[in-house]
Amino acid sequence: MDRAFLIKYGEIGVKGKNRYLFEDALIKQIQFALKKVEGEFAVRKEQGRIFVEAVSEFDYEGTLDSLKKVFGIVGICPMVSCEYGDYDVLEQHAVLYMQEHYQNRPLTFKVNARRAKKNFPLTSMEINAKIGEKLLQTMDHLKVDVHHPDVLLNIELRERIYFYSETIPGAGGMPIGTNGRATLLLSGGIDSPVAGYMIAKRGVELDAVYFHAPPYTSDRAKQKVVDLARLVSEYAGEIHLTVVNFTDIQMAIYEKCPHDELTIIMRRYMMKIAEDLAKKRNSQALITGESLGQVASQTIQSLFVTNEVCTLPVFRPLIGFDKQEIINISEKINTYETSILPFEDCCTIFVAKHPVTKPNLKAIKRSEQKLEGVIESLYQEAVSTAESILVGSEKIVS
Ligand code: ATP
Ligand code: MG
Repeated sequence: MDRAFLIKYGEIGVKGKNRYLFEDALIKQIQFALKKVEGEFAVRKEQGRIFVEAVSEFDYEGTLDSLKKVFGIVGICPMVSCEYGDYDVLEQHAVLYMQEHYQNRPLTFKVNARRAKKNFPLTSMEINAKIGEKLLQTMDHLKVDVHHPDVLLNIELRERIYFYSETIPGAGGMPIGTNGRATLLLSGGIDSPVAGYMIAKRGVELDAVYFHAPPYTSDRAKQKVVDLARLVSEYAGEIHLTVVNFTDIQMAIYEKCPHDELTIIMRRYMMKIAEDLAKKRNSQALITGESLGQVASQTIQSLFVTNEVCTLPVFRPLIGFDKQEIINISEKINTYETSILPFEDCCTIFVAKHPVTKPNLKAIKRSEQKLEGVIESLYQEAVSTAESILVGSEKIVS
């Protein structure tokens, strides 16, 4: 049974002091991810590499699934180890490893030994040659290919002797916590969870804001958003979700503003409130799931008018994506099935039949003046009554 994993991570751009920050954040996220897995694990940094070692019985598949969700990991190598010993011990276990993993399949191979313990009597080159020869003798179906082997048998001599030959692709990106914090406008749709995932992948911690409109939107619609936040948190770590009651603001806009401008004015208030909440939590940017031209509120003119209320940068990682491309990612990260559950979100109820597609900023601002005297207190009320929900498991404090 594989009991340890060598974690490979991208090293480009992580030099000097940044390297430590990167590695420490990565270790913290690995520990966070493994909390949900059955078993006890030790996560160690050793000579520029990270090892995850099971120190009890553990759930192998569950461990792999969790590690595959940790940003910053490029590859995961399941390792088998034996106690440190002389050459005979090494040889015996190398043969065993190959027999267990590659029995009866014609394959080419190459041996790649590394000595962290330099006092082993043979050099790496000598180990490679001797083990290679032994394997050729004992396993008829193996051939050596030093340039393009099917199997690269890695042998590492440390306080134990480790064997590995397989690299499972990791999630890539950068460890959460290495790139600040941003606030995701999270609806119950397909797009915004994907947008959150994509920014989290760059090492950004996520907060989320959801605007609901009871009784026009149900508790189940809200639960769906909490569920989506939880699915994203499997990658992004703990997410602080704020649920804002948007009903009164929406009603006021509905009563006082032209109906073809409802969506755009509503979106301006959402962005404004999201920005206020973000600033209170030291969040440095907003994130939306907008994609250029997807709907009337996502034309260039609409994005310009929506954006105008914000001073923080607004990240729109899906801006150039087709719907199908977004769906593909949502399927990969397992949010799709939840996103398509048929609970109304707050925008669909107040949508006009023919919304403006080229809103004019001056005209919109003129319409918003009709809200003066009413909107201020509604705005304060919405912010002050917002509900906070912590989604995802508790953070590792180390
Ligand atoms: P999504 O699939 O993410 O709901 P969408 O295609 O339905 O997106 P819109 O409804 O125009 O697009 O919303 C654009 C973006 O505005 C969303 O991606 C999301 O970031 C934000 N948003 C929309 N509605 C809400 C809401 N009720 N609460 C929080 N954010 C919202
Ligand atoms: Mg939506």
